[in-house]
Amino acid sequence: MNILVINAGSSSLKYQLLNPETQEVLAKGLCERIGIDGKFTYKAPGKETIDAVDVAMPTHSEAIKAVLDALVDPKNGVIGSMKEIDAVGHRVVHGGETFACSVKIDEKVMAALEECIPLAPLHNPANITGSKACEAVMGKDVPQVAVFDTAFHQTMPPVAYTYALPYEYYEKDKVRRYGFHGTSHKYVSQRAAALLGKPAASLKLISCHLGNGSSITAIDSGKSVDTSMGFTPLAGVPMGTRSGDLDAGILEYLMNKHGYDIDQMLNVLNKKSGVLGISGVSSDFRDLEDAAPKGNQRAQLALDAFEYSVKKYIGAYAAVMGGVDAIIFTAGVGENGPDNRANIVSGLEYMGVKIDREKNNVRGQEVDVATADSKVRVLVIPTNEELMIAMDTAALTRK
Ligand code: AMP
Repeated sequence: MNILVINAGSSSLKYQLLNPETQEVLAKGLCERIGIDGKFTYKAPGKETIDAVDVAMPTHSEAIKAVLDALVDPKNGVIGSMKEIDAVGHRVVHGGETFACSVKIDEKVMAALEECIPLAPLHNPANITGSKACEAVMGKDVPQVAVFDTAFHQTMPPVAYTYALPYEYYEKDKVRRYGFHGTSHKYVSQRAAALLGKPAASLKLISCHLGNGSSITAIDSGKSVDTSMGFTPLAGVPMGTRSGDLDAGILEYLMNKHGYDIDQMLNVLNKKSGVLGISGVSSDFRDLEDAAPKGNQRAQLALDAFEYSVKKYIGAYAAVMGGVDAIIFTAGVGENGPDNRANIVSGLEYMGVKIDREKNNVRGQEVDVATADSKVRVLVIPTNEELMIAMDTAALTRK
């Protein structure tokens, strides 16, 4: 089966054509500057790379058309015709409380997706536009599936998702913890069960998705029971540029002191905070790891604050689940940051977590980096959200 995975943003569209059975990626790339001018990138093994060339993309439909044209191109393409695409899987950011798993998109689902727009006003409209563009270009016969960032966390119990606000904000306004990165947490938790050779139903896992955006999830018996992101992806640990958890009273104080309106305040919290805000150096962990040993104390403080916060979530989630069998590290920093991993788990020996410094010296590989006698396994597992989306899409559309 060939599945086209689409991750549509407001002015960009990432794509990947892959076979979920063999896990082979046939081609992948990116459409950028949609609605502005249009840049097209395409990469396929053994084929000529197209790197950010100008292709007019007034709307997402032209972007999808450019993707399909490249995929079927007689010289540079990877399939004979569009008929070789069995289904399309879309990453959708927010499924609210309506979607607890992936779904085949039909008119009813589309209407429900529209209802979720107020929960993710920047992201869901683009995801919907991506799906409509696929239908316009590929026709109604190619099935499409929505895979939600929030769905995996719908198993959280009320005690984990309820905010201590007047209850009508939950009942009437749907304010609750939703959590994000669900596709990634689900994928790595399934890989962890496979690596450990145990059924997911028997495992207590803490999954640390640490990248530019970061979230930590407690996964008990294969189900998300708590997660660090909240109503929006702004909550939890400090991130590249997002603040993570903070005292809401700070908003009032800063808004009054500096005369910010709410948009300016949110811009600070989303774009200027996190490790960038603390360090003043960069949102990129590689830059911080470069600057800190050269004596930049704020870069060191940013790294320390990030690692401290992740450690606190690990402790909290072990408490929530009454123990932990494995801690998983994934995404850019989790997969590639041996020092971050070592610092995060240092001091957790009392919980039975012991990391092997030599084994831990890996990047981007699936490996258990705990010592042989560590009670808790520590797993590095590269995430693969596209594969997870393709697997869900295949499962829902296989004839
Ligand atoms: P992501 O959002 O998952 O793409 O992760 C991006 C983050 O991962 C950036 O802060 C990068 O600095 C970090 N990252 C990527 N590669 C490395 C690496 N080799 N060492 C440390 N951090 C890395």
